[in-house]
Amino acid sequence: MKEFKRYLITAALPYANGPVHIGHLAGCYIPADIYVRYLRAKNKDVKFVGGSDEHGVPITIRALKENISPQEVVDKYHTLIKNSFEQMGISFDIYSRTSNSIHHKTASDFFLNLYEKGLFEEKETEQYYDEEKQIFLADRYITGTCPVCGYPGAYGDQCENCGSSLSPEQLINPRSTLSDAVPVKKKTTHWYFPLQNYEPFLRQWILDEHKDWKNNVYGQCKSWLDKGLQPRAMTRDSGWGVKVPLPEAEGKVLYVWFDAPIGYISATKELLTNWEDYWCKEGTKLVHFIGKDNIVFHCIIFPAMLKAHGNFVLPDNVPANEFLNIEGQKVSTSRNWAVWVDEYLKDFPDQQDVLRYVLCANAPETKDNDFTWKDFQDRNNSELVAIFGNFVNRTFVLMHKLCNGKVPKLHSEILDSKDEQMMQEFSNTKLKIENSLDQYKFRDALFEIIDLARKGNRYLQEKEPWKKASALEGLDTSEADRGSQVQEKLQKEIDNSLHICLQLTANLAIFINPFLPFTAKKMIQMMKVIDKMLEWDNAGKRKLLSVGYSLRSPELLFRKIDDTEINLQVEKLTNNKIETNIMSETKKSEIDELSNQPGNPGIKNPGKPIIQYDHFSKVDLKVGTIISAEKIEKADKLLRLEIDMGFEKRTIVSGIALHFKPEEIAGKQVVVVANLAPRKMRGIESNGMILMAEDKEGKLYFVSPEDKINPGASVT
Ligand SMILES: [Zn+2]
Repeated sequence: MKEFKRYLITAALPYANGPVHIGHLAGCYIPADIYVRYLRAKNKDVKFVGGSDEHGVPITIRALKENISPQEVVDKYHTLIKNSFEQMGISFDIYSRTSNSIHHKTASDFFLNLYEKGLFEEKETEQYYDEEKQIFLADRYITGTCPVCGYPGAYGDQCENCGSSLSPEQLINPRSTLSDAVPVKKKTTHWYFPLQNYEPFLRQWILDEHKDWKNNVYGQCKSWLDKGLQPRAMTRDSGWGVKVPLPEAEGKVLYVWFDAPIGYISATKELLTNWEDYWCKEGTKLVHFIGKDNIVFHCIIFPAMLKAHGNFVLPDNVPANEFLNIEGQKVSTSRNWAVWVDEYLKDFPDQQDVLRYVLCANAPETKDNDFTWKDFQDRNNSELVAIFGNFVNRTFVLMHKLCNGKVPKLHSEILDSKDEQMMQEFSNTKLKIENSLDQYKFRDALFEIIDLARKGNRYLQEKEPWKKASALEGLDTSEADRGSQVQEKLQKEIDNSLHICLQLTANLAIFINPFLPFTAKKMIQMMKVIDKMLEWDNAGKRKLLSVGYSLRSPELLFRKIDDTEINLQVEKLTNNKIETNIMSETKKSEIDELSNQPGNPGIKNPGKPIIQYDHFSKVDLKVGTIISAEKIEKADKLLRLEIDMGFEKRTIVSGIALHFKPEEIAGKQVVVVANLAPRKMRGIESNGMILMAEDKEGKLYFVSPEDKINPGASVT
């Protein structure tokens, strides 16, 4: 394995327009923290940097809506997020923020470096503009009447009444959601980074030289590269962000995904005077921990920027995790379907390690995973309490009862194969954990630790020192010689098993330390040893606690979590859920990706902005046959349709009543968006959407296969 002189570990910059939830923790902060704590225990030169991402459209919009300044928005959430991380034991060496002046300077110098090399392409495009608020509008911030169903509150990207997806140009009477003003088209100039020029470099660097990256990361990179890279605008029209450092760029800031990753550099600068050792010298291992929605920015765009600049090291690995769902549903901040870290900390005081444990044991390392409160309870009660905690507690109780609270001697002359085997496991486990952690397989490593505690319980159960102790008490000591020989042997056996269990406990403390630091701390207090014992070099050793050393009374490491606590959490989650359309998510990545990218040069599309294939491929289109249609009371525009989808029958509410008579359309074949989230309209749950074409006069036509085909057929 390649040796490095120093390690620079980063964790994704959370967006400062809301608190962090457990999906964030599982996605990157817990794995990053485990990795960093492991490296620190190995006495490596490691720095862990992070900070809040405080720029971008959603923050300015939020500020406008709440009538406060963007600075007030980010101040509030930066503090909240920082506190949550600290309390969860996420041990950043620095947790900075991109609104700091050092970051503005660093990002703006970075831009100038590329600008002076003549790398940017300047282009003019047209975008909708709100003259009153003086802001260019992303699609979501334009509202108007839906051309399909006539609903007056449709958005520039979608009508939430009939589900039609729209572009701002299609809206009748478009208005800005921010001021209600009529938006105007305005020309604007931006600076594009020619990403396509870096394709050969990226192909070689990722596809040839980093086959060691996780499959999900490698695969996503490959698919981006195979689709071909496009120039990307690296500037935006906004008053909030890092100002574009050019005299002709008044009112423009750096694109948030240009400035945010540079935040890692700024934070390191803020932390260290010798920051260049970490960023500019060979021998640094740079690792970015992120969630899967950030892969393209960290594996494609940022490395291309670093390459273009030329002074910086490139990441050695980007071990991105997939998403963590909650109780079977995708986390949604706008619907409040999330477990918020600040609330967990209030509801479960001093239980940080339980959450760290569950989120690591169930981490979405290779695919999306599900967090359920029941699983949280089960893992706590049957793994932490019943296996790990139980072993440590039994060992301490027995040692106080049978060995006067002191570490007993090891009588090597009577060691049997079970004793030997148990001690052999110390170093075996160490190797397995190292092997897993070096490959960013945190779940596997954690499993080995619990498995070692499980083996400890089994060993204790087989040795039964308590039975030997009662046998000792029952011995008839009057038969002096014979008795004392038996007595001596029994006592030696008791000593041996507890000696081994105590050394195992010390090993467990070292192993668990990167994962559950609060628990490791309690354990070293019980063993009355100093922090230094937790160094990784000590792992696997058989003599960590000295013979005759007296230890403290046991303290319970974990407590049972009962049904009422869990039911309360499930209720809280369900009660706080807000029913809205799934498309109203205000996700930075999506908004910046889809709506706010100033026209993509190269491809002409008169309607909506260009999307990538994987966005399109998420839409499941199927042919269905209309079985029946009926009018809905008090909704003159809507029809309730029963559709034969081949594999099932579905109800779909469609805004076509002004165009078709119910009795005329039965038997008609249509194209259905089959995987649209269900939505209630006038009390009826609609499960999908029918595709319609509209002519210049506003007349609607079904999109149908030319000949009758089997319902359920895919449209691809
Ligand atoms: Zn509509």
